[in-house]
Amino acid sequence: MTGRFAGKVALVTGASSGIGRASAIAFAREGAKVVVSDIVDESKDETVPAIKAAGGEAIYVQADVSKATDVERLINVAVRTFGRLDCAHNNAGIFGNFAPTADCTEENWDRVVNTNLKGCWLCMKYEIPQMLKQGGGAIVNTSSFAGLYGSPAAPAYCASKGGIVQVTRTAALEYATAGIRINAVCPGSIRTPLVESLIAAGYPETQMAANHPVNRIGEPHEIAEAVLWLCSDAASFVTGVPMPVDGGWSAM
Ligand code: NAD
Repeated sequence: MTGRFAGKVALVTGASSGIGRASAIAFAREGAKVVVSDIVDESKDETVPAIKAAGGEAIYVQADVSKATDVERLINVAVRTFGRLDCAHNNAGIFGNFAPTADCTEENWDRVVNTNLKGCWLCMKYEIPQMLKQGGGAIVNTSSFAGLYGSPAAPAYCASKGGIVQVTRTAALEYATAGIRINAVCPGSIRTPLVESLIAAGYPETQMAANHPVNRIGEPHEIAEAVLWLCSDAASFVTGVPMPVDGGWSAM
């Protein structure tokens, strides 16, 4: 396939749903060979069939990003299959339970921080050595508006997403001269199963939309576009940035 990422290999975690799925499909549309990874069973993944139906190339690798052995295997399979790794979108994440700080359980804290923050770090830990061998690469981590600002009843989520901003900045500084650019996207509210479940549970979409100066929630492909730009050569002078993609919310 032709496109901005022709000849390149891209890995996306949390790619069976929502933002990750949109990003994986966009990378494939732009010519990348895509490693689609998620914790769900291969039989439940609809992203790889969608990419193949559109003429793209992709494999599915099941991995739990909170487990080092899974992530190491994921990168090994990616490189064994496609020979290299040029772009990585470390996106897998969970929101956890809604509860204020004093009511947040240890179980919720560990689950959310292990999936979101430890998972992001583990992905970089195993992606970076491969990119160093190749002489460069681009990584985008999914943080959140909640990684930049407080959000009541989500202490573990905010801590994990704020932590992602800091490991992004730190790794960007460490590998800047090695040709590896590392950035983050900080989405506002995006129409994915997570947000749809909140709407279905009675949280009015109009209220959610009103947080954003553009007065609507975002769509997964709008985050994917930012991820692809950050991974592309057009962003060659951009590294260490937590980029809000939030309809202006963070400007308030
Ligand atoms: P989603 O639930 O649609 O997708 C998340 C995917 O991650 C799922 O397919 C899930 O199976 C996978 N996953 C969960 N735990 C995993 C694990 N341990 N290992 C591997 N995969 C795992 O959610 P989404 O809204 O698309 O969220 C994607 C990312 O965007 C998350 O990091 C989320 O925190 C972040 N985000 C979402 C929003 C939003 O409004 N939707 C806003 C800001 C940030």
